[in-house]
This record gives sequence, C-alpha cells and structure tokens, in this order.
Amino acid sequence: MPLLFLKDAYLSTAEALVTGIRADGGILLHQTCFYATSGGQPGDTGFLERANGEKIMIAATVTGDTKAEIVHLPAPGQPMPEIGEQLVLHIDWDRRYKLMRMHTACHLLSVVCPYPITGASVGEEDSRVDFDMSETIDKAEVTAKLMDLVNGNHPISYTWISEAELEANPGIVKSKNVRPPRGQGNIRLVCIGENSSIDSQPCGGTHVSETAEVGQIHIGKIEKKGKENRRFRIRFGPAPE
Ligand SMILES: [Zn+2]
Repeated sequence: MPLLFLKDAYLSTAEALVTGIRADGGILLHQTCFYATSGGQPGDTGFLERANGEKIMIAATVTGDTKAEIVHLPAPGQPMPEIGEQLVLHIDWDRRYKLMRMHTACHLLSVVCPYPITGASVGEEDSRVDFDMSETIDKAEVTAKLMDLVNGNHPISYTWISEAELEANPGIVKSKNVRPPRGQGNIRLVCIGENSSIDSQPCGGTHVSETAEVGQIHIGKIEKKGKENRRFRIRFGPAPE
C-alpha cells in the first residue's frame, strides 16, 4: 500500500481503490494520503467520497497488521464501500496542517534541548516532549531559541538511509526508548536546514516544508516528572504575559 504522505505531506486528496474491509469495519485502500497514528502523531480524520457523492466519514486512522497497512476507521453508521470501488480521499486538512506544524515544532525543540527523548505526543493545540534531563531550564529562553529556528525559515527535506547506515551512526537517533522501525529496509530521515545543518532524525511522520510555517509557538510549561525527566509543553501563539 503506497503511503502517499511519506512523499508529499501536503497531499490532502487522492484517489484510491478499496482492497479490503476488515471485520471491525476498517477500510483498506490500494494507496492512501491518510496518516495512521504512529510515533506520537495522531492519525488523520476526514472522509472518503463515493462516485455518487456520498461521504464515508473517517473517525480515525490506525496501522493494521504491519506498519505499512493503513486502516481507515469509519464513524458509526456510515455507508460501506464495495471491494474494488473507487473513492476520492479527503483528509481534514486544517487539523492535519496544525499537527504538521506541531510535529515540526517538536523536532525544533529537540534541537534546542539536545537531550535523549523519552516520550512525545503531538496534538492540535498542545504537544509534549519528555526529555531525560536533570537541569533546570528557563522556558522563555527555550521559546526564544525555538522562535529563532522558526524565523530562520530553514528548509525541511527527506533522505532515505539503509538500516546498515543507521547501525553505523547510532548517534543520529534521539529517542531513548523508541527505536526506528527495523526490518522494512530503508529508513527515512527528516532533515532540517541546508544539508541537514540544523538536524536530521529518523521519522515517518508529516512535517511542514519550511520552519517558518510552524508559526508563533511558545513553551507553555516545563514539568518535572521525576529526578531525571522533564516534560515540555509546546503551544501555538505568543507566550501569555
Ligand atoms: Zn517527525
């Protein structure tokens, strides 16, 4: 199943054929632009449009038996398509774009705070990143450094490396507990800055193409979660006075 969002995160619609319907009602397609919940980023919502204009509302998108299988879960009471039926896919673009901006902001935070990441969760209004660190850090200073990276409008691009190359450069992975998926051949790196001058990190999520698109963000809170864990919350908009 080609995952169209890996090549183009800005693809909000696409055409696809229904290849299967699971026992739980989940719809399988021959290709999709719907991102499935993974790596801390929630899956897409939206609708699948039938030839007669009827809409099948999609409440959630998750991975199936493998990471490469994407399951579109309809909301209750939706019409079911036939196997082989052609549909036009529409993701809820406003929501996805916010998630792309937030997800990219999480990468920028990992540049400003170069500590091992122990957890992350991307949300439309609020995202969190947990770091293995014991230092106390000023949130206004972190916000200022984040906004320098945003305002620098650095390009974001992708490159693929082999598992062997990743094994040879273990320092590239910032996640302490979450290892990049293995056994699928190549791994995608998200690269920030010309020639990855700012950062490169294995990631299968969706990101904006220039850091300025992240827009105004701030660190809302830094919580102490144990002696060696700090939870940072990123929010949209300027820091409250
Ligand atoms: Zn990412």
